[in-house]
Amino acid sequence: MDAGRLAPSPTGAQHLGNARTYLLAYWSARSSNKRIVLRIEDIDSPRVKPWAAQQAIDDLRWLGIDWDEGPYTQTNRRNHYTAALNELIRRNLVFPCTCTRQDIGDAASAPHFEHEGNLYPGTCSSWQLGDAIPEEGTYCWRFRLSDLEDTFTDIVAGVQSCNPAKHLGAFPVTQKSGDISYQLACVVDDEAMGITEVVRGDDLLPSAFRQRELAAALEYRKLSYAHVPLVRGVDGRRLAKRHGDTRLSHYRDSGIRPEQIVGWAAASAGITETAAPTTADKVIALFDWKKLNRLSVVVSEHQSF
Ligand code: GLU
Repeated sequence: MDAGRLAPSPTGAQHLGNARTYLLAYWSARSSNKRIVLRIEDIDSPRVKPWAAQQAIDDLRWLGIDWDEGPYTQTNRRNHYTAALNELIRRNLVFPCTCTRQDIGDAASAPHFEHEGNLYPGTCSSWQLGDAIPEEGTYCWRFRLSDLEDTFTDIVAGVQSCNPAKHLGAFPVTQKSGDISYQLACVVDDEAMGITEVVRGDDLLPSAFRQRELAAALEYRKLSYAHVPLVRGVDGRRLAKRHGDTRLSHYRDSGIRPEQIVGWAAASAGITETAAPTTADKVIALFDWKKLNRLSVVVSEHQSF
């Protein structure tokens, strides 16, 4: 059975933009008879907050979203990621990199995609399997990208093309601490959990190219992608604290009903014609990706429901 997923990062409170993306993932899966897997992506960030995973689960339930499997927690799944990493090492598809952020900043060219870091200049990439491995804690493993153009059709964003080696650069699959990075954990989990459709914010479009190449190297299944436009503040930047309090927990505490948020999300996404309050389940039958509003949605500090 095909499957979609909800993959919150517990790095802080979930806000209105996250709610809209989760609802779209939910509607897409439920309207096409897919399983839904919930996984908590707590592996790759110093910003993970101990309270945020439970709060994300509470937020999802409050919105009326349910799932068939999980929650899985990435920090409990390290052995799966390590096995995949060992496979990449064995096949000389990764190399140890001792560059510092500053080394990369000094040598690299400007990022090709918005919000992406500088392009890795390839300093350590001449390493080959069998060469000495640097001292523990001083290096991360980076994935070697082939110099090939990749093209796929995103359900929302349309045809996407990129040569990841040229425009994204060799990327880390671990941190210097040895912990696994988001890119590898995500790919391993999507395969292990039988995911067939990824619905997430379009800030992750560049990562789709990284993940597709990593998945192909590991001989994993191909996925379909729907990268949905982000919710932005009136200044055009992605929704953040500076845009006022759009945390779902804040709305919940101030007596806003989940139906109001769901109604706003469905209308702003183009699924319904009016923002009249409704439940997540009632929208399933109305859902169609063809209706999706492909523009970013702007909310102001005084968003009313
Ligand atoms: N955990 C990521 C987020 O909350 C989503 C990653 C993904 O869907 O691949 O933004």
